[in-house]
Amino acid sequence: MDADISENLKRIRFEIGEAKAKYRKPDDDLRIMAVTKTVPFERVNAAVGQGITLLGENRVQEYLEKKDFYSKEAEVHFIGSLQTNKVKYIIDSVSMIHSVDSIKLAAEVDRLAAKKERCMDILIEVNIGGEESKSGVSPDRLYELISEASEFENIKIKGLMTIPPIGRSESSFEQMQRLFEDIRTKRPEMNILSMGMSSDYVAAVKYGSNIVRIGTGIFGSRK
Ligand SMILES: *Cc1c(COP(=O)(O)O)cnc(C)c1O
Repeated sequence: MDADISENLKRIRFEIGEAKAKYRKPDDDLRIMAVTKTVPFERVNAAVGQGITLLGENRVQEYLEKKDFYSKEAEVHFIGSLQTNKVKYIIDSVSMIHSVDSIKLAAEVDRLAAKKERCMDILIEVNIGGEESKSGVSPDRLYELISEASEFENIKIKGLMTIPPIGRSESSFEQMQRLFEDIRTKRPEMNILSMGMSSDYVAAVKYGSNIVRIGTGIFGSRK
């Protein structure tokens, strides 16, 4: 039943290995996240059994229904758009939130993290294509958001995340890489760039991604 997952991961690891050898330094960190939306927990655990150590969750409700059944060997990052009133449901069990795109959301994560006496790692989501329909902060407001959000004591900004416009992955990733490198000269602790999905992870590796978020490529198409 899960043979497809093992085949898919073999292919993905091979392609990432090739791209890494070509474009990156050998010791560059690069993780494959398995994106679990609509996937039954048994299949998620099968991926963990194949060496996946990072899961990506989009939907709060679906995550809450599945999380107790997940293998404890993988850590969970929240990657979907997040309403401030839902942060309380995930603050205990995820180790990073990739989709922070406003000071209001950053403030709520900070407030709840403080209450739990923890520090939450976050990424700032960038709307690199300037698309109206998409979440994420626009590139020209990114620096302001980083500077404001870095005042909070119970969140730590670890880097950037993006979902590029359809058909413009490569140029968007290149822009993201430039932003990321520029920010890193001032804030070396921001060392994570989360980009690349099933259709464009090879290009993302080329432009410096260190978390590729792959759903259908691992689990097959969503029902
Ligand atoms: C669904 C999703 C992915 C994975 O998409 P695939 O095309 O299935 O690989 C990655 N990132 C986010 C934010 C997603 O919502």
